[in-house]
Amino acid sequence: MSEIKKIALLTSGGDSPGMNCAIRAVVRTCISEGIEAVGIKKGYKGLLAEQLFDMDAASVGNILQRGGTILQSSRCKEFHQKETRKKAADILKKNKIDCLVVIGGDGSFNGAHLLSTENNIPVMGIPGTIDNDISGTEYTIGFDTAVSTAIDAVDKIRDTAASHDRTFLVEVMGRNSSSIAIKVAICTGAETVILAGKDVDYDDLVETIQRGQKRGKNSSIIIVAEGQTSGRSYEIQQKLNEFKIKSRVCILGHTQRGGSPMSLDRYVSSIMGHQAVIGALKGKINHVTVVRDGKVKLSPLEKCLTKTDQLREDNIILAKTLAI
Ligand code: ADP
Repeated sequence: MSEIKKIALLTSGGDSPGMNCAIRAVVRTCISEGIEAVGIKKGYKGLLAEQLFDMDAASVGNILQRGGTILQSSRCKEFHQKETRKKAADILKKNKIDCLVVIGGDGSFNGAHLLSTENNIPVMGIPGTIDNDISGTEYTIGFDTAVSTAIDAVDKIRDTAASHDRTFLVEVMGRNSSSIAIKVAICTGAETVILAGKDVDYDDLVETIQRGQKRGKNSSIIIVAEGQTSGRSYEIQQKLNEFKIKSRVCILGHTQRGGSPMSLDRYVSSIMGHQAVIGALKGKINHVTVVRDGKVKLSPLEKCLTKTDQLREDNIILAKTLAI
């Protein structure tokens, strides 16, 4: 028999489409396993404010198709302090929470890891971020939906670009990660992609645009990973002006965060939510649900604490090869 009788859950950091499916799966698995589920509003901030409430099967009805997170999310600076995490642990203990499920990105996992190791609080992580940039997992909830949203936008931009012989710089999300940019570039036939954290090779960029124009292309789409600062595309636009190449900028921004989750996000998050609870009940605490070799598995939390840019060289080459 498991010692876990009550599981609390929260969403933290940037929201992503599919978080609601994970919430539903956690709550309904708890109920089917005969244990209590407790929701915490607004991430670590809500935990510190003791915004805990009981969740039943009906409380997660009709949310699979909704973007964002019904629990809401937050960023909580104070959680970086040890004494604040002790306060959070005391609140969890007072409310007889046996395990805390954290749905979020690597930042949220770092907070959960410290909360757990310093105060002996069992935690489980579910990776939720559109950036697909958490170490230890091939997939994070929300990535597929964000990519699909960006593809839809680029297809529309292509229509107008082609009608006017235009070059467009389309900026997609990804501070440290080029995952969205590369996948969107492949799926939209973008002429080239500019990666996060990399200097732009203008000779190569100009050559690519001019080569396309010479062979009769009536539009050029350049996908730009936003990198550290959103709006990077405007700098690139100015530089292209110096080469006498006129371009338009479109920054997709937060449109990529929202919206109804696509099937992959609904499916993976449902499995992850279920496995997080089952794993905890089997004693595999302080683990994260990850995707490896296409399957959802459990991985120790300390292996999932860093950001990683899943820069797949084969995908970069594919994007270039197919865009000639
Ligand atoms: P994400 O989880 O999407 O990566 P953030 O990096 O903003 O988002 O982290 C979300 C929250 O997790 C932060 O506001 C903070 O409360 C907590 N957190 C992040 N990093 C740490 C850390 N190193 N130590 C303690 N708490 C952290």
